[in-house]
Amino acid sequence: MIKVTKNPKETEKLAGFLLAKFLKNKSGKAPIVIALEGELGAGKTTFTKGLAKALGVKKKIKSPTFTLIKSYKIPTTYYKLLTTSFLYHIDCYRLRNYKDLLSLGIEEIISSPENIVLIEWSDRVQEILPKSHIKIHIDHIDKNTRKINISP
Ligand code: ADP
Ligand code: MG
Repeated sequence: MIKVTKNPKETEKLAGFLLAKFLKNKSGKAPIVIALEGELGAGKTTFTKGLAKALGVKKKIKSPTFTLIKSYKIPTTYYKLLTTSFLYHIDCYRLRNYKDLLSLGIEEIISSPENIVLIEWSDRVQEILPKSHIKIHIDHIDKNTRKINISP
């Protein structure tokens, strides 16, 4: 599916719209893992903010460029499918490869069914992405326009 957004708000809204679809299609045994691709300033963090808002996460989402992994508790009122669940925001910009993530517990994070995991610069850690991951590729068209390709 390809969507074009005309400003950051539209990208945030799109994330909320897609979240509902992802939750509907979710298998009980696998977490939702979203691989975010696109150049610096494409809108990967903006997309993540929209998704966090849709989940009811109140904390401000900041790019985890230095921390690599940030986690946010998802309020159960917004996400009734599970009792406890976490949103993980991972930024691989500074990584050479997936090995840097192993000591941070990445394997458990991307295999626990209650998690929703967003990975910026996911192309650097292809090897660890579960087969069932969702790929979101954002292309910078002009100052405020983005082409967003969602697959499958
Ligand atoms: P990334 O995480 O991919 O590096 P960010 O989300 O941090 O990108 O930054 C995207 C920048 O582009 C923000 O300054 C945002 O305001 C701007 N922007 C302009 N138009 C859009 C759009 N349609 N969708 C997303 N971001 C947009
Ligand atoms: Mg970012």
